[in-house]
Amino acid sequence: MKLRSEIQYVKGVGPARAEAFQKLSVDTVGALLRYYPRAYEDWSRITPIREMPENEPCCIRATVCHTPTKIRIPGGLLLFKTAVTDGAGLLNLTFYNNKYIGNQLKEGEEYLFFGKAVRNKYGAREMASPMFQKPQTAHRIRPIYPASAQLSSKTIEKCVQNALDALEEPIRDFMPSEIRAQNGLCDLDTAIRHIHFPPDAAALEEARRRLIFDELFLLQLGLLQMKGRTQTLRTDCVVHEDHTAEFTARLPFQMTRAQSRAVHEAMRDMQSGEPMNRLLQGDVGSGKTAVAAALCYNAVKNGMQAAVMAPTEVLAEQHYHTMQTFFAGSEVTVALLTGSTPAAQKRAIKAGLAAGEITLAVGTHALLQQDVEFRKLGLVVTDEQHRFGVAQRAGLAAKGGNPHILVMSATPIPRTLGLILYGDLNVSVLDELPPGRQKIETYCVSTGYRPRIYRFLEKHIERGLQAYIVCPLVEEGESDLVPAEDYYERLQKGVFASRRLGLLHGRMRPREKDAVMRAFANGEIDILVSTVVIEVGVDVPNAAVMVIENAERFGLSQLHQLRGRVGRGKEKSTCILVSDAQNEEAAARFKILCETTDGFRIADADLQLRGPGDFFGKRQHGLPELHIADILRDTRMLGVVREAAEKLLRADPTLESTEHAAIKRRVDQLFAASEIA
Ligand code: ADP
Ligand code: MG
Repeated sequence: MKLRSEIQYVKGVGPARAEAFQKLSVDTVGALLRYYPRAYEDWSRITPIREMPENEPCCIRATVCHTPTKIRIPGGLLLFKTAVTDGAGLLNLTFYNNKYIGNQLKEGEEYLFFGKAVRNKYGAREMASPMFQKPQTAHRIRPIYPASAQLSSKTIEKCVQNALDALEEPIRDFMPSEIRAQNGLCDLDTAIRHIHFPPDAAALEEARRRLIFDELFLLQLGLLQMKGRTQTLRTDCVVHEDHTAEFTARLPFQMTRAQSRAVHEAMRDMQSGEPMNRLLQGDVGSGKTAVAAALCYNAVKNGMQAAVMAPTEVLAEQHYHTMQTFFAGSEVTVALLTGSTPAAQKRAIKAGLAAGEITLAVGTHALLQQDVEFRKLGLVVTDEQHRFGVAQRAGLAAKGGNPHILVMSATPIPRTLGLILYGDLNVSVLDELPPGRQKIETYCVSTGYRPRIYRFLEKHIERGLQAYIVCPLVEEGESDLVPAEDYYERLQKGVFASRRLGLLHGRMRPREKDAVMRAFANGEIDILVSTVVIEVGVDVPNAAVMVIENAERFGLSQLHQLRGRVGRGKEKSTCILVSDAQNEEAAARFKILCETTDGFRIADADLQLRGPGDFFGKRQHGLPELHIADILRDTRMLGVVREAAEKLLRADPTLESTEHAAIKRRVDQLFAASEIA
């Protein structure tokens, strides 16, 4: 059997299971071996019964005190109970609906048991349905796989074992032995075998280290190569004259120092003769749009066209209006192009862009479509959540002679990390908010306060202000939460019967969402009840209150992003977190929010509270999906990896040598999967 052999030929798989494996994206032996355990049962560390933690999986070695006794309870459930002892401590065991237990566990014999201990209602400790095996034959560390409905972890474990046994030859290592030696890495065959079936904790650690190194190494190689590629590119979109002062004179406000610095950094790129590839990172409300506008202005004044892309139509419209006010009476001509632009108008705009009469196009991804041609596209700005994959960059480059690219993001990333993570981009940070911003007063209250909250909202509406009420997404079976729809109806029929309410939720069609959002932005809605769909950069300065229901359901960074929707106007703004949650973690989150509005501080705190695992939404950063490495947890490894990758690229910038062919193939694979379609 080879790595590329189809999964169904692995012993124990067959066509039906092969299909189930397909659903997990496992189609070959190689893919199966890359389907890593998500955790391990450590049967090698024996905990004395008296020291067992509660609610944490652990392994005990104990003798069965008596043959399990059968108890039939009403409803037909079959229960077996027994007790075990390790000499010093005693533990009750309960097994449900397993009629063989009586034969499997023998009085007076010793077993290893693995499970979680809890206290029963009498205060005694007990383990429910632990797994067990005889100590003599025990696997010491057993893998637990991400299972599916059709494939249990145990089944996957067997299949992996069979596949490993059937391999004709050791897995060939793509990593040159020199790099392995320098970084103290074990060989790939050992790493793969041990990641599934580690003989002991040290071997598991060694395997993990090797595989994490691999993944980060390929990631860094890909990113560095991209960076190298764009930097050695030439572009004829060169900004020769700096018109920034002229632009800032048009603004109704003075740019912050951070904004000026960002413009300056980007201008240096655009003057260099190489295409810019820059990330503009700034907290919500830091004024990224004005920076983008300054660059667009410079591009246009230097004979080029610019495009600004947003992820939704509402945002695109908003940018369009902003740009129109910034550029009123200047020679920048702005047009809006989205999916819902009427056909005739679309044609006119396309013609205008092709002829170069329209110099600034604002829109959605529609701008990237093939039939949109520019006379001389010099700058592309994308707002929020968009990063270009290699293919899209190529597509853009094809539209013009390698235009400059500016990506804007409000996702705060701890500073040191951003530099590594965005290895392929240069980064400017807006670390300062425009002056005069009022701090958003943030409070955390229990649901008992709702009547007062509604009176508070009512007062604001009377003054002509608007408000958001955010409800969490409700999944089926979560009965303790109120879905946004129900909440909306209750308010509309109850306390706010005489007010204009709007509803926005994830299952609405994009066009419906846009219509509601637009009405809210135009002041035609007093209170917008919504799920998190408003998270992305909407700017409605007249909205001064945000109420977040079931606030414990949101992550810290998410709450921060949401809160950033208010506090955009002159009015003092308020954010009210409503929660009855008693848990400490939620309380810690609320405390931070009530204390600070600094996005970076919040990002750091978030990282510490949540642990690195789910810090990034997968889509948010547009990087390839990692299977075993964790960019935040493995920061230290990242440094080492980065050095190794740079060294390799210095020796072989394009990975052309035959020795590196296997590496190159893997880099390409990793990035091919991550292209944004
Ligand atoms: P974000 O970075 O979240 O996209 P925006 O660009 O939407 O922020 O700016 C938020 C608000 O701040 C806008 O209403 C904008 O006009 C205003 N603004 C931007 N820069 C400044 C500044 N230097 N001084 C005062 N107001 C500013
Ligand atoms: Mg914005």
